[in-house]
Amino acid sequence: MRLLVLACILPVAVAFSAAAQLRAGSAGTSFLPTRVIPTATPTPTPTATPTRTPTPTPSPTFTPTATPTPTPTPRPPTPTPIVYKGPDAAALAIVTKTQGLPPDYAPTDLVSLNDLGIPTYNNDPEQLRFQAAMDLAEMFAVAQRDGIHLLVRSAYRSYAVQAATYAQFVEEEMRAAEQAGQPITREEAEARANRYSARPGYSQHQLGTTVDITSADATDLVPDFGRTPAGRWLHDNAHKFGFVFSYPEGKERLTGYIYEPWHLRWIGRGHAEMLYALDYLNPESPMTLDVYLQGLQ
Ligand SMILES: [Zn+2]
Repeated sequence: MRLLVLACILPVAVAFSAAAQLRAGSAGTSFLPTRVIPTATPTPTPTATPTRTPTPTPSPTFTPTATPTPTPTPRPPTPTPIVYKGPDAAALAIVTKTQGLPPDYAPTDLVSLNDLGIPTYNNDPEQLRFQAAMDLAEMFAVAQRDGIHLLVRSAYRSYAVQAATYAQFVEEEMRAAEQAGQPITREEAEARANRYSARPGYSQHQLGTTVDITSADATDLVPDFGRTPAGRWLHDNAHKFGFVFSYPEGKERLTGYIYEPWHLRWIGRGHAEMLYALDYLNPESPMTLDVYLQGLQ
């Protein structure tokens, strides 16, 4: 019985003593089992994935050359090439004594020959269509190098100008006949003028592609011009620049006009070369500019 009581008291006493020690804040060694409160395990901070250090690419080795780097010189601007255009339908129109142009026909691309440095008689303000003028300028330049000094006597003539020009020729024929003591009628005077001048509307000069050329040595429009160095040069070279003779020697029966070695019409280089190759300048050949243009229709 005592043993049971002791057994019952002892735990109480032990418990009392332990509580007293705790209250006293004893620093002594506690007999109580130290309970280790586990600290919260920290969530592991994800470590940043280390960026991969790129393997350094070996830089190319430049082998120094012995040639020094040339100093760049400023380039001159590239000139815009002139695009060669062939003749249009108007430039290839048939204009004869019987086939004319409307009175209101006038080209729209006339340019001043003086502006291109082409010499004209008395520095007259002559004009031609653009492409014809360009080719004429080149022809004059090449002739100059050959020692031939060409001169433009007349180029584009409007319908109105041609009317005045033709009327003037008719008057001159009548006056000359009267002075010779053999007066003629106006019809007869016109028939004479028709051999070398066109009635208004029937002149190739109205096309803006036709030019009368002489030289500084022979300014008159006479057939003898064809025998001069300038006339011979034109005979041999004009086609290379797109010009042909509308009224060659020995072809009045075919063209209706006397030999006019000064009257050149531009039809473009291709056609001019072709016509020349067809031997149109040969008096024995039936080929003429009109026949050629008819063939193009
Ligand atoms: Zn003419």
